[in-house]
Amino acid sequence: MPHEVAARQIATNEEEPLYSAAMHPARRPFVGGNWKMNTSRQGAIDLARAVATGIESSRCEVVIFPPFPWLLPVADAVNRSRAAFGAQDLSVEAQGAFTGQVSAEMIVDCGATWAIIGHSERRHGLAESPELCGAKLRRALDAKLSAVLCVGETWEERSAGRTDEINRMQLDAALAGVPAEALARIVVAYEPVWAIGTGRTATVDDADAAHRAIRRFLGNRYAPAAVEGVRIIYGGSVNAGNARSLFSAPEIDGGLIGGASLKAAEFLSIVAATELATASTRS
Ligand code: PEP
Repeated sequence: MPHEVAARQIATNEEEPLYSAAMHPARRPFVGGNWKMNTSRQGAIDLARAVATGIESSRCEVVIFPPFPWLLPVADAVNRSRAAFGAQDLSVEAQGAFTGQVSAEMIVDCGATWAIIGHSERRHGLAESPELCGAKLRRALDAKLSAVLCVGETWEERSAGRTDEINRMQLDAALAGVPAEALARIVVAYEPVWAIGTGRTATVDDADAAHRAIRRFLGNRYAPAAVEGVRIIYGGSVNAGNARSLFSAPEIDGGLIGGASLKAAEFLSIVAATELATASTRS
């Protein structure tokens, strides 16, 4: 679809997807494994090796996010494989007297290429403001990291019909000052807070609607050429049993997986399910 046609869709049809995934092979399916504060050193090495071996012929981009102390052992474990790895957070500061914090440059120095920004366990658990998340995103991008930017509403916000408003507010704060060229290094993760670690998932229709709205918001800030390739993934209690149906919606480009990423076999089943689900919407 020529860009002018896509641009017209922005203006005229808020309900339709702005860009068909089939048009955008650049939207390679993405599966992230957020290990949170789990695994021993040896457990992390074993899990990383199993993931690296299991995705050898996968079409998906697979990125694992171990705890900070295991970045270096995981770097060794996935060396020369197709698995990438990243940090679950980073400091907004570059260096100095910031006890307990870890800079983007240190993360890069470990060989990591990704960082998660704005996970709800930091926004809500540690009171990180939307502006702080934005500053962290810019730090990550300045350090040449790619970023998974998490957004999503609480149950109270959803019940009040504020899902799109919250996603938009978090995106606006995060993307302030981020140039269009940087979008290629950002994956947006729609993670409804009430679905994270709870066993409750959004319905496919609800997730698809939120993803469409997120792409519309991006379309309000950036030109279609930049927006059309941005991957928008879903996170929140995804497991081997529900991944295929969740990721079958054309606007869902994969997932960020928490609990189910801690078992290699289950995580690899999710990667395989993502591949199958997205194949039918992209070929
Ligand atoms: C997450 O941590 O980003 C997440 C989605 O967790 P879970 O899959 O456990 O809900």
